[in-house]
Amino acid sequence: MSEAHKRKRVDNMNEVDHLLEHRFETLSLEEKLEVKRLGPHHPRDIGISQTAGKNIRAFNVEWFAKKKWLMASIQKKALFCFPCLLFGGSGGEVTWSRTGYKDLKHLSERITKHESSNSHLDNAMKLGLFGWVNVTVQIDSAYQRGIDEHNRQVEENRYVLGRIINCIKLCGKCETALRGHDESADSLNPGIFRCIFETVCEGDARLQRHYDAQPVFKGTSPYRTIRLHADETTDVSCKSQMVVVLRYLLP
Ligand SMILES: [Zn+2]
Repeated sequence: MSEAHKRKRVDNMNEVDHLLEHRFETLSLEEKLEVKRLGPHHPRDIGISQTAGKNIRAFNVEWFAKKKWLMASIQKKALFCFPCLLFGGSGGEVTWSRTGYKDLKHLSERITKHESSNSHLDNAMKLGLFGWVNVTVQIDSAYQRGIDEHNRQVEENRYVLGRIINCIKLCGKCETALRGHDESADSLNPGIFRCIFETVCEGDARLQRHYDAQPVFKGTSPYRTIRLHADETTDVSCKSQMVVVLRYLLP
C-alpha cells in the first residue's frame, strides 16, 4: 500500500460512508482510537435539502456546532449520529446509525428525541469510555513489568551475594585477610579477596557484569556504601566458626 493511499485512508476514516463500509467493530484498536480522536466528520457542503411547497429547506451546518455527535453522509445526503454509528449494532434507532436521517422539517424535535434515548446515551457512554479500559490494561502491564524487573534484580543480587560469600568463606579457610593495603583500581597488591573474586568473575558473565557496574568492588566507590566483615575463631570442640557481616552505609 502506497504512503499516499495510507494517508487518504487515515484522512477519511471518520466519514460516515467509510464507517458504513468498514464497521467500527472490525477495525484494529489503533484504528478505533484514531476514529475517536478524529471525531465525527462534518462536510461543509453536504447538499441536504427538502422541498416544502415553493420553498426549499436546506440543512444548516450550524447544527454541527450545536450537536457534537451529529455528522452527515455526502453520498447518502443524510444525517447520522457518531456514537450510534460506531456502537449502535442492530438495535437502537437505526435511522441515526444505518439508514440516515433526512426529514429536515422535524429535525429539531427528532434530534431532541434521539439524544435523550437510552440507546444513544448508552452508545455515547461507550464512546466516552472507549480507550480507558486499554489504558488500565497498559497500566497493569507496566506494573507487572515493574514486578518482573524487581524479581529479576532480586534474583541477580542473590546470585552475586552467594558468590561473594563463597569467596569470603575461601578466605576464611585459608586464614587470609580480606582487604589489601591498596585496593585502588591500579593497585598491584589489592588483597586476596579481590583477586579471588576477579578470578571467579572470569567466564561468569552475570558476575562480571555486576563487578564492572559496581565500583565498590574495585575500591573506587566514592562512598564505600558496602562493608564486608568476616571473622573466624575455633570453639572448644576445635570446630571453626566464622561470622560474616555485610553493612550498607548510607552516604
Ligand atoms: Zn446517537
